[in-house]
Amino acid sequence: MSAAAEAAASPPGVLRAPLVVEFPFTRSLGPVQSAFLTGLRERVVLGVRTTAGQVMVPPVEYDPVTAEEIRELVQVATTGTVTTWAWNDHPRPNQPLDSPFAWALVRLDGADTALLHALDAPGPDAVRTGMRVRIRWAAQRTGAITDIACFEPHEGPADPQGAPHDGAFAEPVTGIVAEARLDYTYSPGRAQTAYINALSERRTVGERCPSCHKVYVPPRGACPTCGVATTDRVEVGPAGTVTTYCVVNIKARNLDIEVPYVYAHIALDGADLALHGRIGGIPYDQVRMGLRVEPVWTEGGRYPDHYRPTGEPDADYDAYKELI
Ligand SMILES: [Zn+2]
Repeated sequence: MSAAAEAAASPPGVLRAPLVVEFPFTRSLGPVQSAFLTGLRERVVLGVRTTAGQVMVPPVEYDPVTAEEIRELVQVATTGTVTTWAWNDHPRPNQPLDSPFAWALVRLDGADTALLHALDAPGPDAVRTGMRVRIRWAAQRTGAITDIACFEPHEGPADPQGAPHDGAFAEPVTGIVAEARLDYTYSPGRAQTAYINALSERRTVGERCPSCHKVYVPPRGACPTCGVATTDRVEVGPAGTVTTYCVVNIKARNLDIEVPYVYAHIALDGADLALHGRIGGIPYDQVRMGLRVEPVWTEGGRYPDHYRPTGEPDADYDAYKELI
């Protein structure tokens, strides 16, 4: 980014920081994907035959045309042909190769569809559509797409292909954890910068729409209804009302909170938009709509750790029904 663009992206006083959104996605595989990934562990590439007789690699569980379940596995070659590609000059962390490489669609011999993977080549001049390539296997294989380390140029004959395969392997892989990770440089903008700075003083500041007079917390800088900028800062809370909630029964990795617990929408007093937070200090099955709560801060915390009951009588439904 140029210095000018950098300045435009971060006006003076507006916060800017790295933001990583990361979650592990755990999925079971089913018979076709299980055979495919277990096969990779054993250096065997399996496709699936569609109702019309095409061989799809990577395989899918349902025919893309008829939607019928398909199970007929076919072993294809580890050699193939590049059908299209793009050069990646700046590999990012955790990509298949550390040095520049091509992302390529490779139609393996015996397959009718192409598989996306990395192609190790000295430069873009060494890559062309139609070039012959071969799988380079990873030294350590676990039953994952990364068992294919990458493709590499190949001059020799094609591998044998097309043999039916029953998909049976010892110790099949039945589930995978796919790590999803997005790296951002995030600037919250003028309105949320003020909101975050106020939180550092344990105050909650929203912004009022000059047209409809709603107070948005957290503020987004504009009223989504009226389409005008919100400039009038308003301190709200600290107490508020639970407008709706859910009971969380699944423990998240890296989150040291015992389940079950309650996560709620909370309309702070004076706000016309509910924010969300965890409810503590009360058994999870006693949390209710209308419960009056207040923030609980921890030492050094930049936002409330959770909200706890204030002990006041519950709010009337009419007082918060527009904020659910
Ligand atoms: Zn408005």
